[in-house]
Amino acid sequence: MYSVYRSFRSEVRGLGHWSLGLALLVAAALMFSLRGGVPDWLSVLGANAALFWGIGLSMVGTQLFYGRLPNWRLFHAVWIAGVAGLAWWLLVQPDFALRVAYFSFLVLVFYATQLALVVRYGERHFSSYFFAGLMLIQSAVVLTRGVAALLYGGASVDLLRSGVVASVYVATANFMALLLNVAFMAVATRRLQTILERRSTHDPLTLVLNRRGFADVYAREKAQLWRAARPLALLSIDLDHFKSINDRFGHATGDRVLIHVACQIGEALRESDSVARFGGEEFIVLLPDTGVELALGVAERIRASLRQGLDVQLPAYTVSIGVACQLVPAETLDELLSRADTALYRAKANGRDRVELADAQAPIAVRPGCAAGTDRAR
Ligand code: GH3
Ligand code: MG
Ligand code: MG
Repeated sequence: MYSVYRSFRSEVRGLGHWSLGLALLVAAALMFSLRGGVPDWLSVLGANAALFWGIGLSMVGTQLFYGRLPNWRLFHAVWIAGVAGLAWWLLVQPDFALRVAYFSFLVLVFYATQLALVVRYGERHFSSYFFAGLMLIQSAVVLTRGVAALLYGGASVDLLRSGVVASVYVATANFMALLLNVAFMAVATRRLQTILERRSTHDPLTLVLNRRGFADVYAREKAQLWRAARPLALLSIDLDHFKSINDRFGHATGDRVLIHVACQIGEALRESDSVARFGGEEFIVLLPDTGVELALGVAERIRASLRQGLDVQLPAYTVSIGVACQLVPAETLDELLSRADTALYRAKANGRDRVELADAQAPIAVRPGCAAGTDRAR
């Protein structure tokens, strides 16, 4: 866990607290094993303090992992109250049953908090179910142990005596540190997988899709739409004279313009539409279930919004847009892009800050939904 923390601390939060928490669980086990050889206050109180810190830090790690603020107040309140109470029932008024019950109910707070976090923020994935299941078992075990100590006395929960309850508890506690490690690793690995997948399909500057991510979305949409005989349109959007924006205001301002353009385009689209940046200052928009007329309307809306909706902090700019509608299923993404680009060049040649429609490659009758005037997407 510590080595995962060293490698991915900037990508996944909480790993450091989880590693330290697990190390403290091991330290607690070692301290318990010193019992008899060293005074009780050192072995029992030291071990219990290490347990509170270990389980508490795992809670803090889980809060950080799910992007929550760590609840240090709860952490400190539980361990300070815990150690004080245990010291009282160990050294001042020795009472084993109350000590067990008190300890169990306090650590239940840490386990239940983590269970609630996974249930609320965990992804629907096996790793989360495993983590939640583990927290549920641990919560149930400490709750049962606490209640048993109160109802049936210390003997029923004494781990040093043989018995079913003691065996189950010792087995659960022993395996728990190991399983907890597995659960942390499982959710962390899943998180890393999601991050890496996202990185390989999205543009790091504008956070919209990149060429690879767009190709995946296009393939999915095309398969669905052509089964239902629905049209599909593509916009190729290029900033006009962007080089001069870089030259006059600097590359950093150019970058902010690109981010702004990506946001503005995103705002003009429907949930089902996708936007991508194909490097440089060219953006591609996929409009599923959209025919020529509607696509031209969307393109015009984007052009106008980028022209008017300027951020006061940014220099003024305009865009040119080429629109292409997919007419035959055999047409590939590259061919469709090439037609949209040809329309874009025409828009540039015709004075920029305008929208041009690509020439159709196939007879319009082949895909009725794509024909101008028969737009069925609305
Ligand atoms: P046109 O109207 O014909 O499209 O002219 P243009 O200046 O927009 O096009 P050109 O292809 O000549 O220049 C594109 C510029 O985009 C050049 C390059 O420096 C800039 N550029 C490409 N990628 C980035 C980027 O990530 N950030 C910034 N700031 N600029 C970029
Ligand atoms: Mg340009
Ligand atoms: Mg360009």
